[in-house]
Amino acid sequence: SRGLAEADPAVFAGLQQEIAREKKQIELIASENIVSKAVLEAQGSVFTNKYAEGYPGKRYYQGCAPSDVVEQLAIDRAKELFGCNFANVQPHSGAQANGAVMLALTKPGDTIMGLSLDAGGHLTHGAKASLSGKWYNAVQYGVREDDHLIDFDQVERLAREHKPKLIITGGSAYPRHIDFARFRRIADEVGAFFMVDMAHFAGLVAGGAHPTPFGHAHVVTTTTHKTLRGPRGGMVLTDDEAIAKKINSAVFPGLQGGPLMHVIAAKAVAFGEALQPEFKVYAKAVVENAKVLAARLKERGADIVSGGTDTHLALIDLRPLGITGKDADEALERSGITCNKNGVPFDPLPPVKTSGIRVGSPAGTTRGFGPAEFREIGDLIADVLDGLRAKGEHGDPAVEANVRARVEALCDRFPIYPEL
Ligand code: PLP
Repeated sequence: SRGLAEADPAVFAGLQQEIAREKKQIELIASENIVSKAVLEAQGSVFTNKYAEGYPGKRYYQGCAPSDVVEQLAIDRAKELFGCNFANVQPHSGAQANGAVMLALTKPGDTIMGLSLDAGGHLTHGAKASLSGKWYNAVQYGVREDDHLIDFDQVERLAREHKPKLIITGGSAYPRHIDFARFRRIADEVGAFFMVDMAHFAGLVAGGAHPTPFGHAHVVTTTTHKTLRGPRGGMVLTDDEAIAKKINSAVFPGLQGGPLMHVIAAKAVAFGEALQPEFKVYAKAVVENAKVLAARLKERGADIVSGGTDTHLALIDLRPLGITGKDADEALERSGITCNKNGVPFDPLPPVKTSGIRVGSPAGTTRGFGPAEFREIGDLIADVLDGLRAKGEHGDPAVEANVRARVEALCDRFPIYPEL
């Protein structure tokens, strides 16, 4: 049959645009990465044709032996990677993984507690706009105003007052290590399950560059496509046998139908890659590079939320520069640098504008950027921001053209997907 270029030139053109974009721009979105050719190959495979409802050895359809092979590999590798007893690799996404835990351990109307969106939490941890906020009595904790660290006094107070069934930590824009042991003590005191959503930092845990939630959390969820550098998807992990059983029923048939076997095959490949010694080097470099980038931006006049980072991401507060997140991320995109505007804790501006940007090192580190390149990226960003300061919200076209050329030169020195 015909290949994509011939069969569907319109979609092919969009794909070519995306390949060119990824090759030529610097990817700083903290939740993104650049997967290997092997992961792409597994995900773009004939496993997409297969229905495999159920679990390895217990399927509802015939013809599942090959699916069993790859799903069992994914499960075994995930368990080895995180040193835990159970993995469900079927959630289609991080949101689905979190939904499965809620379905397994709580009932609608129960009280749950999570880090609020504006303090760096995720929508699925009880934000009003999401199912977790609509179907649950969601109590939200935040960070302290002075140091932007999780406000444990507030966590304790809210937990004692509201007696949640489930306490969630982890987030999408929280740059610091989290005291998992302290959370578990609070959960035990009030009789709550404790869940860590390690979506953002899972790859750092896998690579030994971040404290592990295992040994503290009753249950851990993650995405597989961020620092973990796999295909887009989710996963639920635990050491608790009773919880494991409930999770399996909650994912299927509770929340999902057929698993995405092509994605599960790609998850197996990515977990295999993360088990290699090189991944430890990668994870350590991701953290070092994020620190370099944050430090350079601080030297160039921005504030860094919480003063720095322990992880792969930094939240840049642009208020000292008098720039909004929206103007900054648009000017940076024009300049070949992709990041996202992001609210900072206690942000006076609405989410469509924000006072900050979130930057991350996972994708750049994958393509080979080291501290020297991340320092240079800090300067490239700061030059664009200076252009905005000097010329107003539309930026300085000359500066942006200059930065774009420097970005392309940097990307050419660290090429990705040469075969595409
Ligand atoms: N949990 C956290 C902490 C996240 O940051 C995200 C995504 O950004 C998710 C869950 C949701 O993952 P997905 O987009 O795969 O549904």
